[in-house]
Amino acid sequence: DSQSSPEALAALPLRENLRGLSPYGAPQLDVPVTLNTNENTHPVPDEVVRAITASVAESAVSLNRYPDREFTELRQRLAEYLGHGLSGSQLWAANGSNEILQQLLQAFGGPGRTVMGFPPTYSMYPLLAAGTDTRYQAGVRGEDFSLTAESAAAQVAEHRPNLVLLCSPNNPTGTALGLDVVEAVYRASEDHQGMVIVDEAYAEFALSGTRSALSLLPGRPRLVVTRTMSKAFALAGARLGYLAAAPEVTDALRLVRLPYHLSAVSQATANAALQHYDVLLETVEDIKRQRDRIVDGLLELGLEPAVSDSNFVFFGGLEDAQQTWQALLERGVLVRDVGIAHHLRVTAGTQAETTAFLDALRAVRTGT
Ligand code: PMP
Repeated sequence: DSQSSPEALAALPLRENLRGLSPYGAPQLDVPVTLNTNENTHPVPDEVVRAITASVAESAVSLNRYPDREFTELRQRLAEYLGHGLSGSQLWAANGSNEILQQLLQAFGGPGRTVMGFPPTYSMYPLLAAGTDTRYQAGVRGEDFSLTAESAAAQVAEHRPNLVLLCSPNNPTGTALGLDVVEAVYRASEDHQGMVIVDEAYAEFALSGTRSALSLLPGRPRLVVTRTMSKAFALAGARLGYLAAAPEVTDALRLVRLPYHLSAVSQATANAALQHYDVLLETVEDIKRQRDRIVDGLLELGLEPAVSDSNFVFFGGLEDAQQTWQALLERGVLVRDVGIAHHLRVTAGTQAETTAFLDALRAVRTGT
């Protein structure tokens, strides 16, 4: 989208650690079936649209004033939604969980400090690190992209990062971490007092038996669990992410958040949506069914889907992932090339979108 030349950018006195970086840029193409950014592709139900509209209209009357800086009602509603005995003082929200992660890095990272992630993982982690001048330490996973408690803890003990980002379910691979991994990483961080952040953006889509790290919060003051309304709640456009942690973590974030960072419109939207969360979350079961259909369909085509606890499926076994991506696009289906050879990632959409993806992939694979 940029109108400038690379030379013009290079001539600016940009910070050294931002030179040569590419911005986050999943393509926003006008394609019939868009399954590349793990959104909930179901439209917001009418009932919720009406509630949001009324709530925003009410907030509009006082837009001359700054919003509630503490978004007290929202924090209370988020605590009730999460359960686990959490109170509003343990909740914090921002413009997407991206902003939550940025605030955590601003408060606990920064120059001279290190954040550790385990690639392949959410592509924004290194960029958020660069933006806050935090050194990014890339940990390693097993051949099959798995991460065991033993390996993660040993790597954390070796590098002693100020923060660890554990993405569970992991993007792009889709698989959740066992709580033993979170516990082991937390234990390995005790010695150097590191923060452990579990990014649970996709938690609501987990397979039965997968447990949330929220249950580990009691007694762990440096554990943070981040969530978002962008995925299960079908509200990516509203930009509302949140976290649960010890109350002192939210005090730390008050030092870095911009004054009134959460607009009155955002608060009104999220509060109305949370009053209807049961309706909003009705799509989750269907999305999980579509995800499972994708896994089955991929296996039938001789491909190799990873275990998915999320609303997307990461799969290998492609001779040429880039070529398959292009061929799918030509059939009107946009998926994600995450830059890992022989692999692609696809979001589970509606039943019709899922069928369109599976049909297109079958056609591409069988040359019909
Ligand atoms: N974490 C993970 C793992 C994600 O995949 C995403 C979105 N793609 C986010 C965080 C950020 O989402 P948002 O800012 O919309 O809450």
